Amino acid sequence: MDTLEIAVTAVQQHNAQTSREAEVVKETDRLLRLNLFPYERVWVDVRFDLAMTEHSSSKINAMLVSGEVHGIAEIRYQSLFLWHDFKTFFDEVIAHELAHVIVDVRNAEKGLPSSKNHDEEWAEVVMEINPDCDALAKVRGEFDDRPIKIHKGGIGCECECGDEDAFVVFPNTPSSLMKLRNEDLTCPACKSAYVKVDREQWPREITEAVDFYRCLMESKIYHLPLSR
Ligand SMILES: [Zn+2]
Ligand SMILES: [Zn+2]
Repeated sequence: MDTLEIAVTAVQQHNAQTSREAEVVKETDRLLRLNLFPYERVWVDVRFDLAMTEHSSSKINAMLVSGEVHGIAEIRYQSLFLWHDFKTFFDEVIAHELAHVIVDVRNAEKGLPSSKNHDEEWAEVVMEINPDCDALAKVRGEFDDRPIKIHKGGIGCECECGDEDAFVVFPNTPSSLMKLRNEDLTCPACKSAYVKVDREQWPREITEAVDFYRCLMESKIYHLPLSR
């Protein structure tokens, strides 16, 4: 599956391969233009990155040339979440991340470092982009990061809640293994201690979600960073 051809102006490079990813690239492009982003001087690279656990992240590499900002803005989106809750992703995650990018470029114009804070200035930009969304440090959507955590070697565990949410994934670290053994990791809802579950006993929804994630991983095209 190749990277899709999309008619965009502000976004210079992307690795969109599905129509959902293409919609996100188009919306990112539209919002950047609407907010008068200096795309002639700051190249925008949008990537769908399946390895990240957050919903999105960004990095600005900029410098001032005769008082104007020049550089590269790299925006990353976790595309697995586009399959879990596309609406929240489209409405809120894009606004969340673009607000960081816009604030960072403003900072660079003033010679200030990138902030990445979820402060008042950032929240104002989020509300300008989408007045209907809550400016939160982490967007609340129906995003399930368990397949990603399992892929990274996490330990599948269960409490006594008995539903699909009873299955949680802890990082495979000495400290969480110790806590599991001592029954120190307890479910906030049913108060029972989490117990490790063998792969064969995992709920079917989880195994299917992991398989789906691995399929996406195998078909994803990555590309080298932009350089100019
Ligand atoms: Zn953020
Ligand atoms: Zn529970």
